[in-house]
Formats: sequence, C-alpha cells, structure tokens
Amino acid sequence: MPPSSHRRLPARRRIALATTGLVTAAGLGVLPFAMRADAGAVDLAHAVLAAQDGWASSGSGTTGGQAADAAHDVTVTTRAELVKALRAGPSGAPRIIRVKGRIDANTDDQGRSLTCADYAKGTGYALAAYLKAYDPSVWGRSKLPSGAQESARAAAQARQAERVGITVPSNTTVIGVPGTDAGINGGSLLVQKADNVIIRNLTFADTRDCFPQWDPKDGSTGNWNSAYDAVTLRGATHVWADHNAFTDSPHLDASNPRYFGREYQVHDGALDITNASDLVTVSYNRFTDHDKTMLIGSSDKDSKLRVTLHHNVFQGIVQRAPLARVGQVHLYNNLFDTTPRDGYVHSYSVNARAGVQIVAQNNYWTLSADRKASQLLSGDGTGAFAGSGNMVNGSVTDLVAAHNAANSKKIKSETKWKPVLSGGLESSAAGLPASLARRAGSGVLK
Ligand code: CA
Ligand code: CA
Repeated sequence: MPPSSHRRLPARRRIALATTGLVTAAGLGVLPFAMRADAGAVDLAHAVLAAQDGWASSGSGTTGGQAADAAHDVTVTTRAELVKALRAGPSGAPRIIRVKGRIDANTDDQGRSLTCADYAKGTGYALAAYLKAYDPSVWGRSKLPSGAQESARAAAQARQAERVGITVPSNTTVIGVPGTDAGINGGSLLVQKADNVIIRNLTFADTRDCFPQWDPKDGSTGNWNSAYDAVTLRGATHVWADHNAFTDSPHLDASNPRYFGREYQVHDGALDITNASDLVTVSYNRFTDHDKTMLIGSSDKDSKLRVTLHHNVFQGIVQRAPLARVGQVHLYNNLFDTTPRDGYVHSYSVNARAGVQIVAQNNYWTLSADRKASQLLSGDGTGAFAGSGNMVNGSVTDLVAAHNAANSKKIKSETKWKPVLSGGLESSAAGLPASLARRAGSGVLK
C-alpha cells in the first residue's frame, strides 16, 4: 500500500506525464522540477515505469521519487552522502537520488576506505583461528560453529553490514547520472517492506562479504556462506530495476581460496527478490560474472512474488537466472549466454521450484559447445515453465521437452496464468544477441 504521505497519480495520468511531459509535478503541488521546454521528454531521473511494463506496472504502478520536491532531489558522490539522502526527511517522502560516479560502500563517514582488517579490528576475529576452531576434524559436522571465534566473526560481519547495507525507503528513485560510470562498489541496497522504488543506470560491482560463515550442514560437504546481495528486495512492492549492471569483477570467484575442501565464497546474490516481495519489473539489466545470481523466493514457503524479467542479459552466470519459487514469473526477450567467462562455468539458467508458474516468451540462449539444451532449466518437479518462441542458437527450441527427456524431476509445461503486462514484447528472439549488446546494462541511458 502506498504510504499516506504520497498519493500517487492514477495510472492513466502518470502515462500522460511520462509520455508528454506536459503534466508536470506541479500538478502534485510540489516544485515543477520535471517541467522541461522540450515537450515529449522527461528528465531521466523523473521518468516512471511505463504502463503495461511488467508486473511493477500493475495497480498504482511504479513512479519512484518522481514527485520529489527540491529538497529531496539530490546528487551524491560518496557513501555518506548517499545514506544521508536516503534518510533525510520523513520516511516515504518522494526522493530522487542521483548517483554521480562510483561510490565505494566500504568507507567511513570521512570517506576513508575500510578493509576487512579494519572491520575485524578489536573483535578478536582471525581467519586462521576460525579455520582452526571449526575444522571438521576438530569441530565435527553435526552443529553450526559457535563460541569465541564465531561470535567474533559475527561481530566483525555486523560492522561491515553497518557500512555496506544501505536501505532504500518507499517512493525513491536511485539513478546513475549518465556519463559518469555511476554505481556502487561493494554495496548492498536493501528494499525492505517498501513500496514504489526505481533503481536505474547503476553498476553494482563486487559486493563482497569479508566474513563468510562455515555451515558444515549445508549440503553433504558443508559450505561457506556469505551475506549481501548487490540488491535485495524483502517484502518490497512496485520495484523497477532497469538498465543496471551487476558483476563480481574485479574480485572474481576464481580467486576465492578453498577451505575445508569448499570454495570460500565471498559473494551472495546479485539481485534477490524474496520474503513476499511482489510486483517487480527487472528490465534491461546486464548480469555478468556471478554464481548465485537471482532468487525469486528464498524458501519454498515464500509467497506473492509476481515478477517480470525482460531484455536482461546473463553472461558468465553459473546459476539462478533466476531460481524461482511460488510466484507468477514472466520472462521475455532475455538473453542467456552459457559460454564460460572469466572462470564462471554455466550450471543451469532457470530453476523452477516450489510450484512456481513461469511464462517464458521469445528468450534467446547462446549455447556454448560444452553445454546442452537439456541443461538450461532445472527444477524440483513442482514448477511450471510455459514457453514459446524460445531460441537456442537461432532455432526455436522446446526447453521443457529437452529438460524432461534428460531429467527425472520433470518440469510442467503449462501454467495457470497468462501474462497481460508485457510492454515491449518482441515477437522474435532472433535479434536479441545483437540488439541487447547495445541496449542492456548501465551507461546506456542518456
Ligand atoms: Ca546467502
Ligand atoms: Ca541473498
């Protein structure tokens, strides 16, 4: 529900605003920041999600901070300025935050860089001591780490979280200033129980946990788990993530050491949509060089999760593009390239679990010689993936049939819903590899 501090325009009125620029923010009783002489154009920072553009356009639509007054329309160049701008004034006040250049999230309030050692200072945490304490030959595999080193690790992690975790409130647009290589290094934007948020034209690079936790009971061999997705939605509604880039670079997983026989994984998700988030459109983003890329739903008991993904590019992605549970997910005109890249080797693209209902139209897979069409989907036997027009190397291919012929956990090929909010749907995937090379990612919007 939209907060009472900001009543949004009905959908039709917003469209007029977005497409003609003739109706301006003045009509909302705030400063006419959006008014421009060149009718037909709206300042990028004031742009709103178009009608019909995926799930986030439903109901009241997604306008972000479009109605911000002058005091809440700011340009930021540091973490401290970003955090201040996100907290200024009443929560829910419409705000536009223009990110200029690259912000380093691992900095103190004076802008000085913070290292992992800085976070650990005074906590007593030391990786060598942690490894010694929880080596399976000492600690066993039946219980989670606890005691002095685990407490110290958690304390150090909390100090990093306080720096890199950046909460985005309702009615906010966070947008990169064109031409400035705008983005956030090492940051984790959290949209939690917030409504009406736009995140555009930003590069999210190397969001990294200094303090992964050992879980001896994760899988058959244990795993190192880390916190911080580049962007996390929890209980968020009406969110539009558009023309962003997500990458582990410059800290690639290939440089992660192995401890206890498992990769010391410092990255979590790129863009995770969880905890009953709903009405989300993810468009024209570029996801590269990452392992666990996108959760839609964090458990089989999650709920809502109506999400549209269109015109996104996935290259050098190991898995979860997305891993989807429970909801109604629309995938159209996305490009998936399974070619190994920078040490990232494709495992699968889309995982359909926990009864999820995926409709996939006119997506394109560039399938490298090391992979098969039967390896593009994954599932637990309960998910559905209704597809049409999906191409593999230029040929329309039935991905579910290919998967089901080779796997015991079958994917259902019919869904119980049909998408209607599919703005910009292209009727053929054939041109996507060439066109999305130009159209997707950060730095494209002018
Ligand atoms: Ca995690
Ligand atoms: Ca996550």
